[in-house]
Formats: sequence, C-alpha cells, structure tokens
Amino acid sequence: MQDFLLLHDVKLREYSFFFAWSLVLLWESALPAKVLFDSLALRWSRNILLSVFGILLNRLLFPLSAIHLAIKAAQNDWGVLNLVALPAWLHLLIALLALDAVAYLLHALLHRVPILWRIHAVHHCDKDFDCTTGLRFHPIESVIAMSARLAIIVTLGIPVIAVVIYELWAIAAAFYTHANAQIFPLAERKIRALLVTPEMHRIHHSALAGESMTNYGVVFSIWDRLFRTYRDRSAMNTEEMPIGLPWFNNYPSMGIMRLFILPLLSAPFREQAEEQTAQVDKQPIFPPS
Ligand SMILES: [Zn+2]
Repeated sequence: MQDFLLLHDVKLREYSFFFAWSLVLLWESALPAKVLFDSLALRWSRNILLSVFGILLNRLLFPLSAIHLAIKAAQNDWGVLNLVALPAWLHLLIALLALDAVAYLLHALLHRVPILWRIHAVHHCDKDFDCTTGLRFHPIESVIAMSARLAIIVTLGIPVIAVVIYELWAIAAAFYTHANAQIFPLAERKIRALLVTPEMHRIHHSALAGESMTNYGVVFSIWDRLFRTYRDRSAMNTEEMPIGLPWFNNYPSMGIMRLFILPLLSAPFREQAEEQTAQVDKQPIFPPS
C-alpha cells in the first residue's frame, strides 16, 4: 500500500482534482444558484493561474508531499497519536477531525490577523462565486496552508490513510463548497448538519457587513457551531446577496499581476479599515434592550 502511494501520490491528487472539478461543472450548469456577472474568461484564467503558481511553489518548497511525510512519520513512530494505543478507527477519526480543525483555525486566523488577511483577501476579492473561486488563493496562502498541514501530520502522527482521505477530500471540497449550484433545500439542511455546503460557504463570501467573519469551516460544519462562528442565512437571499469585497471594486483592473501584489497594496485595506471603523461608530453605545 505504501509503495503504491509513494509511486502514485501525485496521480491520485490529479484524478481527485479533475474528477471533482468536472462533476461540479456539470452540477453548476444543470442547477446554477446565482447569475454570474464578471467576465468568465478573465476570472477563470486568473483563478487557474493562481492555483498553478500555488501548486508549483509548494512542490518547490516542500520536497515531501503530505502523503510522503505521513509515511515517513509512521515508519519512525513520530507524533503524539503514535505514543498511545488506540483502535485503528479511533486513530483515523481523531486524525481526520484534527486535520479539519487545523484548517478551520487557520482560516479564522487568515481573517483575523491583519497581515494574513492581506494574503487571504485575494481569495475574497472575487466578485463572483463559482468552482474556480476554490482555486483562487495567493501562492503564499497555499504555502501557509501546506506548512500547517505538514506540521500537524508530524506533531500528531496522523496515519497515512487519514492523510490520503483528507487530501483527496479537501481537493474535492474546494470545488464543491464554492459551487455556484443548488442543493434541494431539505437535503441541504441534512448535509449541512455535518458538512459545509455551498449555501453555507457562499455566506462566507458575502460582501454584507460581518458575514465573511462567519462559516470558516472547510470540510466539516461542526467547528463553526462549536466556536460560535456559524451563520445560518445571509441577510439577503442568494440572488441578491453581493459577493466579494466592496473596497476593491474601485480597482477594476484586478489582473494577475495586481492579484500577486495585492497583499502589498495599502489603499484598499485602508479603505476597508476606515469603513469598518465608521460602521462601529454608527452602532449605538447603549443598544436598545
Ligand atoms: Zn475566507
């Protein structure tokens, strides 16, 4: 099994990537949730290019993939989970939850730590929300996410099978949670009890005040409920809800070069900070009880 994974690690991730992307594309064309208004060709080419740069940078910086590192950790008994005797199923469950909890925590930090927010804003300044938004990350964010995943694999001793499941699942979830597609409401409610749905994650991309500071979950929806960052609905319905970051709308030419240097720009982040301060000032000091 380990030999197979060492040989076919990249292929497995590529299959998951293109299989999930194709399925979500079919779903989006059959049951679209919202009319897109930005240029599809421009958005897609930028989002795909950002993803390609992120993948290449990770390959350059990390000679061992997450799966390879998990195999090395298992061979050397690295990590806390390898110090305690646990049934295999419990080991797997704890590992999957830990990987997803770290992804949730990192996402919350990307929003709450100013310097990280500058990097994550590249993902959020997309004016539309579709499967390619799941590819739109600044390459530095891809490196930060990979570093966090590798660190947790080594320190906890995440079993190889958990890393394989989570890696493939997270690739599919990037497309699925950003799908501009509908799920029938009754089914959506049931799925949302455990997993993040596009409806839930779309609220996280809302341009309405405060909504993007909710629903940070990546795969499981439990963390948002547990840490009280869960938001059930947007203040507007799906069709009317604005997407993106209003402070960036004054900068119409968000070409690929500008997206790369976006974390270094001052003006849009200053506008954002000013607007948020103004919003806080508008709040009554003594809210009506
Ligand atoms: Zn976010």
